[in-house]
Amino acid sequence: ETAASTNASSVVSSHFINGEWTDAGGPTFPVHNPLNGELVGEAAAGGSAEARAAVEAAAAAFPAWANLAPGARQLLFLKAADIVERRTEELVELMAVEGGASRAFSSFQIRLSAAMLRQAAGWGYLPAGDVLRSDVPGRTATVTRKPLGVVAGFTPWNGAFYLAWRTFLLPMAFGNTTVIKPSELAPRSAGLVHAEILEEAGFPAGTFNVVTHAPGEAPAISDVFFESPAVRCINFTGSDRTARILGAQAGRALKRMVLELGGFNPVLILDDADVEESIRAVTFGAFLHQGQVCMNSRKVYVHSSLHDEFVAGLKARVETLKIGDPRDPAVIIGPLINDGAVEQIAARVQDALDRGAALVTGGTADGRLYPPTILSHVPADAICSTGADETFGPLLVIEAFDDAEEAFRASQNTPFGLSASIMTRNRARGLDLAARFDTGIIHINAPTMASEASLPVGGVKDSGWGRSGYYAIEDFTEVRLTTVSRE
Ligand code: ADP
Repeated sequence: ETAASTNASSVVSSHFINGEWTDAGGPTFPVHNPLNGELVGEAAAGGSAEARAAVEAAAAAFPAWANLAPGARQLLFLKAADIVERRTEELVELMAVEGGASRAFSSFQIRLSAAMLRQAAGWGYLPAGDVLRSDVPGRTATVTRKPLGVVAGFTPWNGAFYLAWRTFLLPMAFGNTTVIKPSELAPRSAGLVHAEILEEAGFPAGTFNVVTHAPGEAPAISDVFFESPAVRCINFTGSDRTARILGAQAGRALKRMVLELGGFNPVLILDDADVEESIRAVTFGAFLHQGQVCMNSRKVYVHSSLHDEFVAGLKARVETLKIGDPRDPAVIIGPLINDGAVEQIAARVQDALDRGAALVTGGTADGRLYPPTILSHVPADAICSTGADETFGPLLVIEAFDDAEEAFRASQNTPFGLSASIMTRNRARGLDLAARFDTGIIHINAPTMASEASLPVGGVKDSGWGRSGYYAIEDFTEVRLTTVSRE
């Protein structure tokens, strides 16, 4: 059987359960190109029955997967990395038509995904525990890291390809099996294409399952995850709004949750910063993928002595970014995901302008294409400036400061705590300030984005909890204590 049957216009995808593409001919839902609304595919409209079958398959596959020799597991991950790279051109096209991703952003995701697969490939060989000392004479105590069981993953549409790997690959590398519920906006790039890759790589049936659903039908699937005793952890990437709904369910079901949510990701440009370097870091940090990434910078605090030079340079650089169909390799700024996203940005720009903000550049949509938009002199109570609510698009607020301490305190006045950056030529000063940030990540002289798969990325406060990279061992394993005493 093949993964998907292709006709002239679109791809019709099935669920992937227990190593089989199931449900061919069942109900489907359409997936559209965010740029122009063209049909790009159809995916199976699943519900609780499919979710149950997938959880059962993952539970059945768990013991053998957990006990697979590290060398055998390593070969599978390495093979998957090679397949990802071999399919690069097709993946770039998929991310463009399903998610509006530019080649720059899809290539970035492919590079990070292959790196993560190759790093995780070796984790099976790392020490699996410790021998502890006991106060009881003759007693030995050991702790062993054990996988949890089935981890259910919710994947988002925005950095769909990379974030989906991150959602299931890390649990699988530590011996868990998985069921993925991809975003209904990008079901292939947020899970189904991964099933094709893992199937080709030879992963055992049931270790990785994907169930897709029509818009509005997510709860039918997530309810099954919370009800199933075999599901031991919910690994969620998405909005804090949805995380609160699922978190309440997790509380009732007493299930472990790992949450990768939104951010505010401020940048502080101190008076001794390199302005050119700051312009580069902010252009990438604020506008990669049209500002639809959880780590995009939403606000820059710049020392007033650098403000005018920085704003003029940033405006000039940002205005060179080509906007249009992301299938054109020269395009850097593709469409926003849907009309709601365009409306959110337009409303927030209008709100700020109504309150007296100045428009530096951008501000006018052309369909779903929204240009990189910069506002200065934004009053503190404008929605885009407060940091209380995530603005998910190409809108950046710039604020001048005279007192770095005041700017720092203002930058912390947000419920989010994902990433932040400090631009300074004074390393010691940067490190002193960095130590006080209430975020999961703080960069000195780099964009707020993550750019290395190996490093532990994740948030605090409303940005969630849990980390990527090897530190995910804390999220996806249990510590088992075994003691042996004298008879
Ligand atoms: P975003 O706003 O970035 O799309 P969401 O939180 O809406 O983020 O979506 C993240 C994931 O959560 C997606 O897989 C989506 O289908 C799922 N989701 C959204 N709402 C619900 C819900 N009420 N119950 C279960 N899953 C949901």
